[in-house]
Amino acid sequence: MKWEDNVRKVIPYIPGEQPKHNKMIKLNTNECPYPPSPKVLEAVRALEENSLRLYPDPEVKELRTVLAEYYEVKLEQVFVGVGSDDVLANAFLTFFNSKKPVLFPDITYSFYDVWAELFGIPYERIPLTEEFHINSNDYKRENGGIIFPNPNAPTGIWEELSLIEEILSANQDVVVIVDEAYVDFGGKSALDLLEKYDNLLVVQTFSKSRAMAGMRIGFAIGSEKMISYLNDVKFSFNSYTMNQTSIAMGVASVKDDMYFKEIVGKVVATRERVKKELKNLGFSFMDSKTNFIFASHPLVKAKEIFEACKEQQIYVRYFAKPRIDNYLRISIGTEEEMDSLLAFLADFLKNR
Ligand SMILES: *Cc1c(COP(=O)(O)O)cnc(C)c1O
Repeated sequence: MKWEDNVRKVIPYIPGEQPKHNKMIKLNTNECPYPPSPKVLEAVRALEENSLRLYPDPEVKELRTVLAEYYEVKLEQVFVGVGSDDVLANAFLTFFNSKKPVLFPDITYSFYDVWAELFGIPYERIPLTEEFHINSNDYKRENGGIIFPNPNAPTGIWEELSLIEEILSANQDVVVIVDEAYVDFGGKSALDLLEKYDNLLVVQTFSKSRAMAGMRIGFAIGSEKMISYLNDVKFSFNSYTMNQTSIAMGVASVKDDMYFKEIVGKVVATRERVKKELKNLGFSFMDSKTNFIFASHPLVKAKEIFEACKEQQIYVRYFAKPRIDNYLRISIGTEEEMDSLLAFLADFLKNR
């Protein structure tokens, strides 16, 4: 027998490229093109030496308190983690513990099947409709739990809360997780449904709308009972996941609501302008309520455009996957970055 026979073998999630070039335009991983609030950096500078020497608060009370106030829930309803990836992984481990399959869309965040495989959770991919929408009837069957992003990634499509509620009311015997990584860009949060459904877990992140992907902060809001189960698993794994700097920065970010709304507003305005211009260039796409546009061109293959962009140091995301291999996922950058992209696309489409 070889030691390798006993190794846990998994196929890992592949994150988007993080190239480091001086003049690149990076529109491939849905980061915010603007810096976080100036208050966020002030908070780090104000950290006292002792707060680095000592362990951080394992309960992360300060950050959970500002989040509870902001979202008008109880402190006991808030869970935080190292990015929503950490929160979601803990949620898979805690709530998807059935022999029945967990359900999620066929086109969705590609980490879900990776966690299911890692933890040995059975799962089933439910095809989205032709237009990439969720059909709630597909989720009315026996299952071990449900998870989907709203708005969905990489399609950018937001589903009405009535559809979410239909899925929730048909599945009160399992946990339903709504991954709201992009909700701040125009969707409506399922948090409104929490009072009615104690099996709902809403997960959000500071990585996109709060411009803090580098700090790794995510959180979940659910019933007190759910959060307490989530904590039991988290404290059985690693008590001190949130570091002191991230906590201080996260608190400062939530407190500066004006700045938050300002940068989100800018991204949304740029998105709406870019939609019009992409349409003029012949691109088609579903309506996006996120900080990216999932677009396809009727005459030129997405892969060809992707590679041409890359040669110009313009990075967008391309997925070589069934049903979506003729689409580009284009993150919304600054006005200037989008102008460069649009100018390049116009030129490329005319001269190829
Ligand atoms: C970006 C993203 C996440 C993960 O974000 P973190 O940086 O780990 O907080 C989770 N779900 C979806 C759908 C995402 O797009």
